[in-house]
Amino acid sequence: MFTPMDAVLLSIGNELTLGETVDTNSAWLAQRLAEIGIGVLRHVTVADEIDPIRRQIEMAAADAEVVLITGGLGPTADDLTRNALAAAMGVELVLRPEWVERIRVFFTGRGRDMPEANAVQAVFPVGSDPIENTCGTAPGIRALIRRSIVFALPGVPREMREMFERSVRPELASAAGGAVLVATVLNCFGAGESDIGEKIADLMARGRNPTVGTTAKQGIIGVRIHSRGRSADEARELLERTEVEIRRRLRWMIYGRDSETLAEVVGRLLAAGGKTVATAESCTGGLIAQKLTDVSGSSQYFLEGVVTYSNAAKTRMLGVPANLLAEHGAVSEPVARAMAEGCRKASAADYAISATGIAGPKGGSTDKPVGLVYLGLADAAGCEVTRHLIGRFLDRTDIRERAASIALNRLRLRLLGEPGEPSR
Ligand code: ATP
Repeated sequence: MFTPMDAVLLSIGNELTLGETVDTNSAWLAQRLAEIGIGVLRHVTVADEIDPIRRQIEMAAADAEVVLITGGLGPTADDLTRNALAAAMGVELVLRPEWVERIRVFFTGRGRDMPEANAVQAVFPVGSDPIENTCGTAPGIRALIRRSIVFALPGVPREMREMFERSVRPELASAAGGAVLVATVLNCFGAGESDIGEKIADLMARGRNPTVGTTAKQGIIGVRIHSRGRSADEARELLERTEVEIRRRLRWMIYGRDSETLAEVVGRLLAAGGKTVATAESCTGGLIAQKLTDVSGSSQYFLEGVVTYSNAAKTRMLGVPANLLAEHGAVSEPVARAMAEGCRKASAADYAISATGIAGPKGGSTDKPVGLVYLGLADAAGCEVTRHLIGRFLDRTDIRERAASIALNRLRLRLLGEPGEPSR
């Protein structure tokens, strides 16, 4: 049975805990570790205090086979990583004179005398190994705490990266036994994160390989799969098996993978069937047309889009009867229907999408609250209008964005012959 290795990343420095510097080191290191099949249990940021750093090193070494620390190796009194590491190892610090000489050579190479303060950078926990820094003064440290290997690297990103690539990656890659971590995201639309979570709860259980988790952004639920194996083939095979199972359970909810957009998928389906689309938009202000035309090659299937914001424009350009507007208001089922039908007739497209709603923050009422959107979808068989309450806690941009995505998703489901979610 393949047992993957795990790491904990510790970043040290008051500038990080104060939020003055963003911790880019941990993000970079996590990506590099993934490349060699090492998972990351957590990222921890600690202020420049010996005891908190020591405690975090001890906890990290208790939980993971690999501990990577960045920062706090400088020459000043607030650089305490080496002291905290020695405390966690239960050993003293010792000056290594040959490393004072190396640091001195680094300074003389740049035409400067070494400040005496820098000698502290040649002090290491007993039993640890210094790691050469080829582009700065702070050597790194390699140490063992019980079954964990600990690397302390400089905080300066350039120095940290160089040291990782040269002295850390080779050892970890070999310890991980050529392990590989592969990842993919299945993008879903039309169901909530908790509905999706329920359907795949057993696959999301802790301790599985692959691991499965969800993220939500603007109505799009990403189901992330991370799989680890002794080789790329093994990791990919494990991932594929889980992917097939997730696809079997979520079916139409999944529209694409990784960076694929709804508009790209809709475009592909339209092009494959030799079909065309046109749009008539009010509250979305052209966003649906923009998303469709963001895709290269969309001229093959996108015919035209109109933004009919005023009632007069809806009548003049789409033939929406004035009495319909007067009787039901612009944000209504009959108007969404007339807009889609009028657009289909004017453009001669196979499909016409319409959108009319209240994007807010003003203009809502009890009957027609902010976030109420009607979406029409007309084709040769007729026109279907759905009503959506997109959410009064969303802002104008998010309501428009969500409405555009729902409209595109409806067309996707129509092209696939799937009924999809009911409207609200
Ligand atoms: P040096 O002796 O070269 O200063 P050091 O190990 O003491 O190395 P720090 O003093 O902690 O490093 O940080 C040096 C610089 O690197 C600072 O400018 C800091 O903002 C930046 N830095 C430190 N940690 C991080 C991090 N996790 N992500 C991004 N930048 C960082």
